[in-house]
Amino acid sequence: MGLLDKVQRFQTARQLMDAGLYNYFRPIESAQENTVRYNGREVIMLGSNNYLGLTNHPKVKDAAIAALGKYGSGCAGSRFLNGTLDVHVELEEKLASLVGKEKALVFSTGFFANQGTISTMVGRNETVVVDRTDHASIIDGCRMSFGNVRKYRHQDMEHLDYVLSKEKGADTLVVVDGVFSMEGDIARVPEILELCQKHGALLMVDDAHGVGVMGDHGRGTCNHFGVTEDVHMIVGTFSKSLASVGGFVASDADTIHYIQHLARVMIFSASPPPASVASVSAAIDVMLEEEWRHQALWRNTDIMMDRLRSAGFDTGPSETPIIPVVIGGDEAAYRMCVRCWEEGVFVNPIVSPAVEPGNALLRLSLMATHTEDEIHKSMDILTSVGKELGVV
Ligand code: PMP
Repeated sequence: MGLLDKVQRFQTARQLMDAGLYNYFRPIESAQENTVRYNGREVIMLGSNNYLGLTNHPKVKDAAIAALGKYGSGCAGSRFLNGTLDVHVELEEKLASLVGKEKALVFSTGFFANQGTISTMVGRNETVVVDRTDHASIIDGCRMSFGNVRKYRHQDMEHLDYVLSKEKGADTLVVVDGVFSMEGDIARVPEILELCQKHGALLMVDDAHGVGVMGDHGRGTCNHFGVTEDVHMIVGTFSKSLASVGGFVASDADTIHYIQHLARVMIFSASPPPASVASVSAAIDVMLEEEWRHQALWRNTDIMMDRLRSAGFDTGPSETPIIPVVIGGDEAAYRMCVRCWEEGVFVNPIVSPAVEPGNALLRLSLMATHTEDEIHKSMDILTSVGKELGVV
């Protein structure tokens, strides 16, 4: 059996295309706004991580344009060598102050921030402990570390206690999503922290979906719980509330110094381009100035959650602007997406193996800039399509 045999055997996506149920790599013809243009039609976007609606904000775009004019299109090297600009360093200072840590380090993607941090911090004969539903970049960071990997059941504190009791605390790092990217529930950080302290382990929170969403002015999940000081590392991404691409880790100066000089993705991969970095910096300013966005995001979340639950949809454990709607079979989820698009709403399917077979869902996510009318209209559509397909 050659390498190409498996390439030929992979027919899953083609079968979906043939059946008119393919919902991936859909080319959007407009900015990532509360409504987008797809396939020649304007539809309400309920599948974007642009939580604060900043990707098309004039201040964010102007900052990117100005940086492009001053520094050009790329850095042509890694952060480690020629690819660090003054704007990278300024952004690091801003991020550290935003999340309340001594220092921060900017990576080219949020994926790299997790992968680089975990694989650098956890070495041979050390252990990383993860929640079973942690993001793929955390899992890949574990795979790339030479340490032992242990998993505990999602949000199950007894199981975490048990797993930690089998490890040597000082050699152990626990990593959790601050807000879980599919389920939309908030990690029980104070309890996790207590268990880490009991067993002497360090805690890292990946707040990709918490920054901009949780805490004072969107300072994140650790701020929300008032535990910033005791959480050893906070990771974040720029690809969601911060309206760009890239990621960071924040911690004490010694930890950042260590990661900065040893993370392979920091040393052997090029730095994020100036326009992206400048737009993140502007997005943080807007986020702190325009507090109404944070409030509007939560108002929209409450409205949508009420509408979904009163229509009889199963929204799982969600308590944030990420709202999973459990559909059941994979095909039903694909069909829901196609029918919703036909009626005017863009939603994303999440199927096995990303979720257990039979638990396929639509992952809905909100923006601060959605109007109440848009939410009600999209919920009317979701409910009528749901009834048509026998989901509710
Ligand atoms: N962590 C979590 C929880 C995520 O959801 C994501 C992106 N889906 C990442 C990390 C990776 O971030 P990025 O897309 O910026 O690489």
